[in-house]
Amino acid sequence: KTSYRVVSDARLVELRDRENRLFLERTPASQKTFERAHEMLLNGVPMPWMGDWGTSHPIFVKKAQGNKITDIDGNEYLDFCLGDTGAMFGHSPEPTAAAVADQVRHGITTMLPSESALAIGSELGRRFGLPFWQVAMTATEANRYVLRICRALTGRHKVLVMNECYHGSIDETLPHIGPTGKLELRSDFDMNPGVPKDALTRVVEFNDVAALEKELAHGDVACVLAEPIMTNCGMVLPAQGYHQALRELCTRYGSILVIDETHTLSTGPGGYTAAYGLKPDFVTLGKSIAGGIPVAVYGFTREIADRINASFGRKSVSDPMGIGGTLSGNMFAIRAMEATLKHVATDEAFERMIAGQNRLSDGLDAALKRYDIPWSVTRSGARCELQFMPRLPRNGSEAKAQFDWELIYYTHLYLANRGILITPFHNMMLIPPMATDDQIDTLVQVWSDCMAELSTR
Ligand code: PMP
Repeated sequence: KTSYRVVSDARLVELRDRENRLFLERTPASQKTFERAHEMLLNGVPMPWMGDWGTSHPIFVKKAQGNKITDIDGNEYLDFCLGDTGAMFGHSPEPTAAAVADQVRHGITTMLPSESALAIGSELGRRFGLPFWQVAMTATEANRYVLRICRALTGRHKVLVMNECYHGSIDETLPHIGPTGKLELRSDFDMNPGVPKDALTRVVEFNDVAALEKELAHGDVACVLAEPIMTNCGMVLPAQGYHQALRELCTRYGSILVIDETHTLSTGPGGYTAAYGLKPDFVTLGKSIAGGIPVAVYGFTREIADRINASFGRKSVSDPMGIGGTLSGNMFAIRAMEATLKHVATDEAFERMIAGQNRLSDGLDAALKRYDIPWSVTRSGARCELQFMPRLPRNGSEAKAQFDWELIYYTHLYLANRGILITPFHNMMLIPPMATDDQIDTLVQVWSDCMAELSTR
C-alpha cells in the first residue's frame, strides 16, 4: 500500500500528543461526564458510534442550533458533520421546530393516517418522479422493507450491493469482498455465525459493469441496492454511463433497482435521482427529511405498486409481509417531514448549500496545491470528501485502501481543538444553508494550517 500520509510517523505521534493535551484542557467537563457515564452506559455512550470520534472522550453536547454546537464546557463548534447528514439543513430548523411543537400537543402516534401524509406523498412524488410512497422510521428500516418486497415480488433471495457500501444495519448488506475474493464480514461481530456470507448477498465493485453483469446473470438477485454516489467509504463518483448500464442490466436480468438517497439527497431537492435523471424502481431515504426527527420513506413506480397489489398487497389482514412498525408513519414524524420539505429543504436552501460546498472544495484544492500535498477532494452537491490519495477513487476498494485512521483521527482532533467538527470515520464535510462564506473560509483556513504543519515533515 502506498501511503500519502505526508508526515513521518514519529512527528504524527508528537503532534497527536500536543493536540490530546489541548483537548483535555478544553474539555474537562466532557471528560468527567464520560467517566461517570461508564457506570450506566456501555463504554460511556448511548450508541457505539458516539464513542468512535477518535478523541480520548466524546464531546458532550449542551445544545445544537443552526450550524453551531455548544459543548458542556462552553466551547462552540462550527458543525460540518451535521449528525452525519441527519441535520443536513442545520440543527433544529425553525419551521420544523414550530411544526413539531404544535403537533406534539395534538397527537404523536395513533396508527391512523393524517392529511399531512398526502402532502408529503405528493411533494416526494414531485421531487423524485415516483408516484407511490410509504413511511418507515429509519433509513435502515426503509431499506429492509424494500428488500423484503423485492424478494417477495421476484421470488429470488439475493441482494446485490457495492463493495464497501453502507445502507444501515442490514445483515445482507454487510459482507464485502475479502482478500481472497470471497465474501466476508468487515468486523469480527458476526450476527450469523456459520452462515456463508454469500448465502444472501452478491457484491461487486462500483463502476464495474462487467462484474455487475456476471453477478446478475446468475438470475438469483432480487434487487440491486446502491447509493448513486458511494458516500460511506470516503466518496466515489459514478463513471460516465455507469448508471445507465446499471439500469439496463437490472431490467435485462429481472432484478429490481433500488437507489438509496439517504446521503445523496445533498445533491439537490430530488436527490441524485432527479438531478441526473435516474430511473430507479425504488428510492429510499431517511435521516434529514424531517430535520432529524426519526422518519424515512421509500417511493416506487406504478408498476411496482401494481405488482405488490397483484401479489400480496390487498390480501393483508395484519402485517403479512413483515413490513410496518407500530410507530411508522406516525402523525408527529410526518408533520415534521411536511414542514421540513415545505420550508427547510427548499430549492433556495440547496442553492446556498451547493454554492458553499464549491467554495469549500475550491479552498481545499488551493491549499493542497499550495503545500504540495497529494490528496484529493471529491465533491457532489452540498458535500465533499477530502481523501488521502492523489486521484479520485473509482470504487470502494480503492477508497478504503487509502483510509489512514491515525491521520483521520489526528486531523479531526486538530479541527475540533480549533472549533470545527467534521464527520467521524472519514473526511466528509457537509454545508448547511446557513453556513456563511466566512465560516466556510474558517474551515478552509484551519485545514490549511493543519496541512502546512504536516507538510513541514
Ligand atoms: N443508507 C445510507 C446510504 C446510509 O449512509 C445510512 C446511514 N449512514 C443508512 C442508509 C441508514 O440510516 P439510519 O442509520 O438512519 O437507519
